[in-house]
Amino acid sequence: MIVIGPPGCGKGTQSANIVKKYGLTHISTGDILREEVELHTAIGEIVKKFLDRGYLVPDDIVMREIFETAIKQKCDKGLLFDGFPRTLFQADYLDDIMYHRNEKINLVIHLNVEEEELFQRIVHRSEDAKKRSDDNEETVRNRLQVYYQKTFPLLEYYKKKHKLVTISGMAPIQGVFNAISSIIDDYINKS
Ligand code: AMP
Repeated sequence: MIVIGPPGCGKGTQSANIVKKYGLTHISTGDILREEVELHTAIGEIVKKFLDRGYLVPDDIVMREIFETAIKQKCDKGLLFDGFPRTLFQADYLDDIMYHRNEKINLVIHLNVEEEELFQRIVHRSEDAKKRSDDNEETVRNRLQVYYQKTFPLLEYYKKKHKLVTISGMAPIQGVFNAISSIIDDYINKS
């Protein structure tokens, strides 16, 4: 499955809850890319420039990282992609990977949160001691703009494939997780 949503929507938190409850393997491109930066790899040096400014890392780099991780994962219960795909190009690539693994995307959960609330959450998060280098007001504006330009069209892409479920991410964490769980349970019961 895939979890899609704007920065600050709670994607990371809810993805962690989902993998814990349903035993899926968590693949977060944000985490993979941040690790490259922390390890100061050659890729990490390139990635840092995009990440710190709130721009998407180029598709070829992201795809190589995904290929290196996702394709090699053993996943008896399935994979959860968090923050991937973020462009139509990446979505096509993911379809290819799935096809070659004889698997498919079953469910795409879209977490919908109002823009004002997103700002407040990220500003709050930026006060954390372990804050992310891309959690500041200017970068967040870029990240939001990039989301609406590049990632938003994916909602239509998955809607046409009848895979998209939109959930409000405005409620407290547990409430949102309950809503997600009931969507997943429904899906499991029907299949
Ligand atoms: P996230 O942790 O999902 O909010 O991602 C943090 C940052 O990592 C994003 O703002 C992008 O710079 C980069 N990133 C994460 N996933 C992708 C992706 N699928 N494609 C391009 N850039 C990505």
